[in-house]
Amino acid sequence: MNKLIPAIVSDIDGVLIRGKSTIPNSDIVVQELLNCYYSNGEMHNIRIPFYLLTNGGGCTELEKANSLNRIMGSNFNRHHIFLNYTPLRPIMNEYQNKLILLCGAGHLTEIAKDCDLRYFYTIDEYSALFDQVEFKQYDDGVIQQYEADIKQRNMEQLKNQQIEAVFIVFDPIKWEESIQTICKLVKEKKDLPIYVVNNDVTYADNFKLPRLAFGTFTNALISILKKEYNINPNIIYYGKPSLNTYKYVQEYIHEKHDNIGNIYMIGDNPASDIRGANQIGWPSVLVRSGVFRGRENDPQDPGKYVVTDLMDAYNKILQLEGLKVVQ
Ligand SMILES: [Mg+2]
Repeated sequence: MNKLIPAIVSDIDGVLIRGKSTIPNSDIVVQELLNCYYSNGEMHNIRIPFYLLTNGGGCTELEKANSLNRIMGSNFNRHHIFLNYTPLRPIMNEYQNKLILLCGAGHLTEIAKDCDLRYFYTIDEYSALFDQVEFKQYDDGVIQQYEADIKQRNMEQLKNQQIEAVFIVFDPIKWEESIQTICKLVKEKKDLPIYVVNNDVTYADNFKLPRLAFGTFTNALISILKKEYNINPNIIYYGKPSLNTYKYVQEYIHEKHDNIGNIYMIGDNPASDIRGANQIGWPSVLVRSGVFRGRENDPQDPGKYVVTDLMDAYNKILQLEGLKVVQ
Protein backbone atom coordinates (compact mmCIF):
# COMPACT_ATOMS: atom_id res chain seq x y z
CA MET A 1 0.00 0.00 0.00
CA ASN A 2 1.42 3.34 -1.06
CA LYS A 3 1.74 6.13 1.46
CA LEU A 4 -0.97 8.74 1.08
CA ILE A 5 -0.12 12.02 -0.62
CA PRO A 6 -1.20 15.35 0.83
CA ALA A 7 -2.91 18.07 -1.18
CA ILE A 8 -2.51 21.76 -0.46
CA VAL A 9 -5.25 24.36 -0.88
CA SER A 10 -4.28 27.98 -0.35
CA ASP A 11 -6.12 31.25 -0.15
CA ILE A 12 -4.77 33.99 -2.47
CA ASP A 13 -5.03 37.46 -0.87
CA GLY A 14 -2.94 37.78 2.25
CA VAL A 15 -1.10 34.52 1.54
CA LEU A 16 0.29 34.70 -2.01
CA ILE A 17 -0.18 38.39 -2.73
CA ARG A 18 -1.13 41.62 -1.03
CA GLY A 19 -2.83 44.01 -3.45
CA LYS A 20 -0.72 43.81 -6.57
CA SER A 21 2.48 42.68 -4.86
CA THR A 22 3.84 39.23 -4.15
CA ILE A 23 4.22 38.46 -0.44
CA PRO A 24 7.97 37.73 0.02
CA ASN A 25 8.96 34.13 -0.80
CA SER A 26 5.45 33.03 -1.76
CA ASP A 27 6.58 32.98 -5.42
CA ILE A 28 9.35 30.49 -4.53
CA VAL A 29 6.86 28.17 -2.83
CA VAL A 30 4.43 28.42 -5.75
CA GLN A 31 7.22 27.69 -8.20
CA GLU A 32 8.21 24.54 -6.31
CA LEU A 33 4.68 23.25 -5.80
CA LEU A 34 3.79 23.71 -9.45
CA ASN A 35 6.98 22.35 -10.94
CA CYS A 36 8.85 20.04 -8.54
CA TYR A 37 8.65 16.35 -7.70
CA TYR A 38 8.80 15.14 -4.13
CA SER A 39 9.99 11.99 -2.40
CA ASN A 40 8.45 10.36 0.66
CA GLY A 41 11.15 7.71 0.93
CA GLU A 42 9.04 5.16 -1.01
CA MET A 43 8.18 7.10 -4.13
CA HIS A 44 10.35 9.75 -5.73
CA ASN A 45 8.09 11.22 -8.37
CA ILE A 46 5.30 12.63 -6.28
CA ARG A 47 3.45 15.76 -7.31
CA ILE A 48 1.65 17.57 -4.54
CA PRO A 49 -1.79 18.63 -5.79
CA PHE A 50 -1.93 22.37 -5.24
CA TYR A 51 -5.03 24.52 -5.61
CA LEU A 52 -6.13 28.05 -4.83
CA LEU A 53 -9.44 28.80 -3.15
CA THR A 54 -10.59 32.39 -2.96
CA ASN A 55 -13.74 34.33 -2.16
CA GLY A 56 -12.70 36.61 -4.99
CA GLY A 57 -14.42 36.50 -8.34
CA GLY A 58 -16.03 38.85 -10.83
CA CYS A 59 -13.93 37.32 -13.60
CA THR A 60 -13.29 33.86 -15.04
CA GLU A 61 -10.81 31.40 -13.54
CA LEU A 62 -8.59 31.92 -16.58
CA GLU A 63 -8.52 35.69 -16.07
CA LYS A 64 -7.65 35.17 -12.40
CA ALA A 65 -4.85 32.73 -13.26
CA ASN A 66 -3.44 35.17 -15.82
CA SER A 67 -3.55 38.10 -13.44
CA LEU A 68 -1.80 36.08 -10.71
CA ASN A 69 0.83 34.92 -13.19
CA ARG A 70 1.50 38.53 -14.15
CA ILE A 71 2.01 39.50 -10.51
CA MET A 72 3.95 36.41 -9.35
CA GLY A 73 5.66 35.16 -12.50
CA SER A 74 3.94 31.82 -11.85
CA ASN A 75 2.37 29.32 -14.24
CA PHE A 76 -1.09 28.71 -12.82
CA ASN A 77 -3.78 27.62 -15.23
CA ARG A 78 -7.54 27.92 -14.87
CA HIS A 79 -7.83 24.48 -13.28
CA HIS A 80 -5.74 25.53 -10.28
CA ILE A 81 -8.27 28.13 -9.25
CA PHE A 82 -11.53 27.92 -7.34
CA LEU A 83 -13.22 31.30 -7.42
CA ASN A 84 -16.22 32.12 -5.25
CA TYR A 85 -18.68 30.89 -7.90
CA THR A 86 -16.65 27.92 -9.24
CA PRO A 87 -18.45 25.37 -7.01
CA LEU A 88 -21.74 26.60 -8.50
CA ARG A 89 -20.80 25.52 -12.01
CA PRO A 90 -22.57 22.12 -11.81
CA ILE A 91 -25.70 23.80 -10.41
CA MET A 92 -25.61 26.48 -13.12
CA ASN A 93 -25.48 23.62 -15.60
CA GLU A 94 -28.86 22.46 -14.39
CA TYR A 95 -30.26 25.88 -15.30
CA GLN A 96 -28.94 25.85 -18.84
CA ASN A 97 -32.40 25.81 -20.37
CA LYS A 98 -34.05 27.94 -17.73
CA LEU A 99 -34.21 31.66 -17.22
CA ILE A 100 -32.00 33.05 -14.45
CA LEU A 101 -30.85 36.38 -13.07
CA LEU A 102 -27.15 37.10 -12.55
CA CYS A 103 -26.25 39.75 -9.98
CA GLY A 104 -23.09 41.37 -8.70
CA ALA A 105 -20.30 43.50 -10.05
CA GLY A 106 -17.69 42.26 -12.49
CA HIS A 107 -17.81 40.69 -15.92
CA LEU A 108 -21.20 38.96 -15.63
CA THR A 109 -21.69 38.30 -19.34
CA GLU A 110 -18.20 36.75 -19.66
CA ILE A 111 -18.81 34.60 -16.58
CA ALA A 112 -22.16 33.48 -18.00
CA LYS A 113 -20.58 32.53 -21.32
CA ASP A 114 -17.76 30.70 -19.59
CA CYS A 115 -20.32 28.74 -17.53
CA ASP A 116 -22.28 27.90 -20.71
CA LEU A 117 -25.33 29.80 -19.50
CA ARG A 118 -27.70 30.68 -22.29
CA TYR A 119 -30.81 32.27 -20.89
CA PHE A 120 -29.93 34.93 -18.37
CA TYR A 121 -30.44 38.58 -17.56
CA THR A 122 -27.77 40.54 -15.79
CA ILE A 123 -29.11 42.72 -12.98
CA ASP A 124 -28.35 45.85 -15.03
CA GLU A 125 -30.33 44.51 -17.99
CA TYR A 126 -33.26 43.31 -15.92
CA SER A 127 -33.46 46.45 -13.86
CA ALA A 128 -33.25 48.79 -16.85
CA LEU A 129 -35.74 46.84 -18.97
CA PHE A 130 -38.33 45.64 -16.47
CA ASP A 131 -37.80 47.01 -12.99
CA GLN A 132 -36.37 50.50 -12.99
CA VAL A 133 -35.66 52.23 -9.69
CA GLU A 134 -36.55 55.84 -9.18
CA PHE A 135 -34.00 58.67 -9.36
CA LYS A 136 -31.75 56.72 -11.67
CA GLN A 137 -31.12 57.93 -15.19
CA TYR A 138 -31.47 55.20 -17.80
CA ASP A 139 -29.67 56.07 -20.98
CA ASP A 140 -31.63 55.21 -24.16
CA GLY A 141 -28.48 54.05 -25.94
CA VAL A 142 -27.64 51.68 -23.11
CA ILE A 143 -31.18 50.26 -23.07
CA GLN A 144 -31.01 49.66 -26.82
CA GLN A 145 -27.72 47.87 -26.34
CA TYR A 146 -29.24 45.65 -23.63
CA GLU A 147 -32.14 44.80 -25.92
CA ALA A 148 -29.74 43.91 -28.73
CA ASP A 149 -27.63 41.72 -26.38
CA ILE A 150 -30.70 39.84 -25.17
CA LYS A 151 -31.91 39.34 -28.74
CA GLN A 152 -28.55 37.85 -29.61
CA ARG A 153 -29.04 35.27 -26.85
CA ASN A 154 -32.29 34.09 -28.49
CA MET A 155 -34.30 34.74 -25.37
CA GLU A 156 -37.49 35.72 -27.20
CA GLN A 157 -39.36 32.53 -26.29
CA LEU A 158 -38.53 32.99 -22.60
CA LYS A 159 -39.44 36.65 -22.45
CA ASN A 160 -42.55 36.23 -20.31
CA GLN A 161 -41.33 33.34 -18.24
CA GLN A 162 -40.49 33.51 -14.58
CA ILE A 163 -36.92 33.80 -13.36
CA GLU A 164 -36.11 30.39 -11.85
CA ALA A 165 -33.03 31.21 -9.81
CA VAL A 166 -30.85 34.14 -8.80
CA PHE A 167 -27.08 33.74 -8.79
CA ILE A 168 -25.21 36.55 -7.04
CA VAL A 169 -21.75 35.72 -8.31
CA PHE A 170 -19.84 38.71 -6.97
CA ASP A 171 -20.26 41.62 -4.54
CA PRO A 172 -23.39 43.56 -5.46
CA ILE A 173 -22.38 47.19 -5.77
CA LYS A 174 -25.77 48.53 -6.80
CA TRP A 175 -27.64 47.53 -3.67
CA GLU A 176 -30.89 49.38 -4.39
CA GLU A 177 -31.48 47.85 -7.82
CA SER A 178 -30.46 44.40 -6.67
CA ILE A 179 -32.63 44.45 -3.54
CA GLN A 180 -35.59 45.95 -5.40
CA THR A 181 -35.50 43.36 -8.16
CA ILE A 182 -34.80 40.34 -5.96
CA CYS A 183 -37.64 41.38 -3.59
CA LYS A 184 -39.99 41.60 -6.58
CA LEU A 185 -38.97 38.16 -7.80
CA VAL A 186 -39.20 36.58 -4.34
CA LYS A 187 -42.65 38.08 -3.83
CA GLU A 188 -43.71 36.34 -7.05
CA LYS A 189 -42.05 33.04 -6.11
CA LYS A 190 -41.39 32.70 -2.41
CA ASP A 191 -39.01 29.73 -2.65
CA LEU A 192 -36.93 31.23 -5.46
CA PRO A 193 -33.39 29.87 -4.95
CA ILE A 194 -30.90 32.69 -4.32
CA TYR A 195 -27.29 31.52 -4.53
CA VAL A 196 -24.69 33.70 -2.82
CA VAL A 197 -20.95 33.15 -3.06
CA ASN A 198 -19.39 35.11 -0.25
CA ASN A 199 -20.43 35.41 3.37
CA ASP A 200 -17.74 37.75 4.66
CA VAL A 201 -19.35 40.71 6.41
CA THR A 202 -16.27 42.91 6.35
CA TYR A 203 -12.85 43.01 4.77
CA ALA A 204 -9.68 44.74 5.88
CA ASP A 205 -8.00 47.27 3.64
CA ASN A 206 -6.12 50.48 4.21
CA PHE A 207 -9.24 52.21 5.52
CA LYS A 208 -9.85 53.21 9.14
CA LEU A 209 -12.98 51.07 9.45
CA PRO A 210 -13.19 47.61 7.89
CA ARG A 211 -15.26 47.81 4.70
CA LEU A 212 -18.72 46.25 4.42
CA ALA A 213 -18.56 43.11 2.32
CA PHE A 214 -20.97 40.87 0.40
CA GLY A 215 -22.33 39.23 3.56
CA THR A 216 -23.85 42.51 4.71
CA PHE A 217 -25.76 42.76 1.44
CA THR A 218 -27.26 39.31 2.03
CA ASN A 219 -28.14 40.30 5.61
CA ALA A 220 -29.84 43.47 4.33
CA LEU A 221 -31.78 41.49 1.72
CA ILE A 222 -32.95 38.93 4.28
CA SER A 223 -33.93 41.63 6.74
CA ILE A 224 -35.94 43.62 4.16
CA LEU A 225 -37.76 40.53 2.89
CA LYS A 226 -38.60 39.53 6.44
CA LYS A 227 -39.64 42.96 7.72
CA GLU A 228 -41.48 44.23 4.65
CA TYR A 229 -43.01 41.03 3.26
CA ASN A 230 -42.70 38.49 6.08
CA ILE A 231 -40.78 36.13 3.78
CA ASN A 232 -37.77 34.03 4.75
CA PRO A 233 -35.87 33.84 1.47
CA ASN A 234 -34.35 30.61 0.18
CA ILE A 235 -30.69 31.60 0.32
CA ILE A 236 -28.09 28.96 -0.51
CA TYR A 237 -24.64 29.79 0.76
CA TYR A 238 -21.44 29.12 -1.13
CA GLY A 239 -17.98 30.63 -0.75
CA LYS A 240 -15.67 30.22 2.22
CA PRO A 241 -16.36 29.19 4.99
CA SER A 242 -19.49 27.37 3.71
CA LEU A 243 -19.36 23.59 3.82
CA ASN A 244 -20.82 23.51 0.28
CA THR A 245 -17.65 25.07 -1.08
CA TYR A 246 -15.23 22.91 0.90
CA LYS A 247 -17.10 19.72 -0.02
CA TYR A 248 -16.94 20.66 -3.69
CA VAL A 249 -13.19 21.24 -3.52
CA GLN A 250 -12.65 18.01 -1.59
CA GLU A 251 -14.64 15.95 -4.09
CA TYR A 252 -12.83 17.61 -6.98
CA ILE A 253 -9.40 16.77 -5.52
CA HIS A 254 -10.33 13.14 -4.85
CA GLU A 255 -11.76 12.83 -8.34
CA LYS A 256 -8.63 14.20 -10.02
CA HIS A 257 -5.96 12.52 -7.86
CA ASP A 258 -5.45 9.06 -6.41
CA ASN A 259 -4.17 8.25 -2.96
CA ILE A 260 -4.96 11.59 -1.36
CA GLY A 261 -4.46 11.82 2.39
CA ASN A 262 -4.57 15.12 4.24
CA ILE A 263 -5.85 18.20 2.50
CA TYR A 264 -4.17 21.23 4.08
CA MET A 265 -5.82 24.65 3.98
CA ILE A 266 -3.51 27.64 4.21
CA GLY A 267 -5.18 30.97 4.89
CA ASP A 268 -4.89 34.35 6.59
CA ASN A 269 -8.53 34.78 7.57
CA PRO A 270 -9.62 32.74 10.61
CA ALA A 271 -13.37 33.31 10.12
CA SER A 272 -13.22 32.26 6.50
CA ASP A 273 -10.27 30.03 5.47
CA ILE A 274 -9.72 28.39 8.84
CA ARG A 275 -13.34 28.00 9.95
CA GLY A 276 -14.21 26.21 6.69
CA ALA A 277 -11.20 23.89 6.92
CA ASN A 278 -11.85 23.08 10.59
CA GLN A 279 -15.50 22.32 9.82
CA ILE A 280 -14.73 19.78 7.14
CA GLY A 281 -11.75 18.33 9.03
CA TRP A 282 -8.81 19.50 6.95
CA PRO A 283 -5.64 20.43 8.86
CA SER A 284 -5.69 24.24 8.83
CA VAL A 285 -2.60 26.42 8.67
CA LEU A 286 -3.12 30.03 9.73
CA VAL A 287 -0.55 32.51 8.42
CA ARG A 288 0.28 35.95 9.82
CA SER A 289 0.85 37.65 6.47
CA GLY A 290 -2.67 39.04 5.96
CA VAL A 291 -5.81 39.58 8.07
CA PHE A 292 -4.58 37.61 11.10
CA ARG A 293 -1.67 39.24 12.95
CA GLY A 294 -2.04 37.72 16.41
CA ARG A 295 0.86 36.38 18.41
CA GLU A 296 -0.85 33.21 19.54
CA ASN A 297 -3.83 31.67 17.78
CA ASP A 298 -7.25 32.97 16.85
CA PRO A 299 -9.61 32.33 19.81
CA GLN A 300 -12.75 31.77 17.72
CA ASP A 301 -11.36 29.92 14.72
CA PRO A 302 -7.97 28.54 15.71
CA GLY A 303 -5.67 27.17 13.06
CA LYS A 304 -4.29 23.69 13.73
CA TYR A 305 -0.92 25.27 13.01
CA VAL A 306 0.00 28.96 13.15
CA VAL A 307 2.99 30.13 11.13
CA THR A 308 4.47 33.32 9.73
CA ASP A 309 3.81 32.99 6.04
CA LEU A 310 3.39 30.64 3.08
CA MET A 311 7.04 29.56 3.13
CA ASP A 312 6.69 28.50 6.77
CA ALA A 313 3.40 26.75 6.06
CA TYR A 314 4.95 24.86 3.15
CA ASN A 315 7.99 23.75 5.17
CA LYS A 316 5.72 22.69 8.03
CA ILE A 317 3.59 20.53 5.71
CA LEU A 318 6.65 18.91 4.07
CA GLN A 319 8.01 18.13 7.53
CA LEU A 320 4.69 16.73 8.82
CA GLU A 321 4.30 14.56 5.74
CA GLY A 322 7.95 13.47 5.53
CA LEU A 323 8.35 14.87 2.02
CA LYS A 324 11.51 16.19 0.35
CA VAL A 325 11.93 18.06 -2.91
CA VAL A 326 13.57 15.81 -5.50
CA GLN A 327 14.16 18.33 -8.28
MG1 LIG B 1 -7.16 36.08 2.43
